[in-house]
Amino acid sequence: MSVLVLLEQRGELKPCALEAATAASKVAQAAGVELNAVYIGQSLADQSAELAGLGIAKVYAYENDALNYYSNDGYVPIVRDLVQELGATVVIGSASALGKEYCASVAARLGTELAQDAIEVSWDGGLKAKKPVYAGKIVSEVSITASPAMVSLRPNVVKIERDGDAVPEIVKRDMPQVSLRTVLKEAAVAAAGQIELTEAKVVVSGGRGIGGPENWPVVQELADALGAALGASRAVVDAGWIHHSHQVGQTGKVVSPDIYVACGISGAIQHQAGMRTSKLIVAINKDPNAPIFKLCDYGIVGDLFEICPLLAAEVRKALGKE
Ligand SMILES: Cc1cc2nc3c(=O)[nH]c(=O)nc-3n(C[C@H](O)[C@H](O)[C@H](O)COP(=O)(O)OP(=O)(O)OC[C@H]3O[C@@H](n4cnc5c(N)ncnc54)[C@H](O)[C@@H]3O)c2cc1C
Repeated sequence: MSVLVLLEQRGELKPCALEAATAASKVAQAAGVELNAVYIGQSLADQSAELAGLGIAKVYAYENDALNYYSNDGYVPIVRDLVQELGATVVIGSASALGKEYCASVAARLGTELAQDAIEVSWDGGLKAKKPVYAGKIVSEVSITASPAMVSLRPNVVKIERDGDAVPEIVKRDMPQVSLRTVLKEAAVAAAGQIELTEAKVVVSGGRGIGGPENWPVVQELADALGAALGASRAVVDAGWIHHSHQVGQTGKVVSPDIYVACGISGAIQHQAGMRTSKLIVAINKDPNAPIFKLCDYGIVGDLFEICPLLAAEVRKALGKE
């Protein structure tokens, strides 16, 4: 019996991989079993220090140029075979945009159960996970009785914790016999910009209150000041004011940043489904009765065209950037 964590990478190990390792480490400790990890990518080389103190015994590293980018054909059979070889009884991954497909495919290949997009995972004689359902209105607790039990963890819900500085043993594996039907050669920067929305620590979103696509710079200025990713409501995506990759909500992306700033967004339940697990929510809206004010931690009743530039200037001042 052991726990296996899937380490996501994009050139470098992603923060959500270290969060998943932290959660997996607690599960392994509670179950009294070993925690191992699997890395698939170009090279783990100088990143093993990133894995220090996370309680991982061994990292099985499959390093090859052809595996630099995730591919279902490449990654999924490797993990399936490794889970079977190690006899892993718990497998934990990330519910990033990529991880949701990755974990679902691994679960399907193993013929097992997966609790997707969990916000908490624990061990209580069996694997338990908490996950929001019904557009985030209810948090359900599920017990996964199948073996291996699988969970994908929403990015940003677990704080990375280290205990000591012991680095895991790296077990290098040969390139397995996988037939790659497609090889991704290069990934261009996504429309959502440099910071991936689902993994961003700060998100600033704009809604119909911005009035038109020509006004994005007002919200972008605040996002830039905070080092935030840019989000959007569905109304502005449907209106063609911004690409769908920015949409937050039930039919968009689910985010859990440390700070979420909603500018000119009413706070419909479908929008809340994508952001209500944010740690601190700030709303700027000129309607004091907007539903977002029932959810937010800080509400500013006012015109976003006045508030956003003021807030951006204050943030820059506080950060010594002005
Ligand atoms: C099946 C389904 C799925 C959906 N999925 C999603 C989803 O994934 N994500 C999503 O966001 N929505 C989703 N929706 C749509 C959702 O119901 C709302 O229609 C949408 O979220 C509204 O977007 P909004 O808040 O930008 O616009 P509005 O509801 O029109 O709100 C605009 C807000 O801006 C304020 N405002 C106007 N001018 C200013 C100003 N100058 N300064 C400050 N505030 C101002 C107004 O007071 C208002 O509160 C879905 C709906 C359905 C039926």
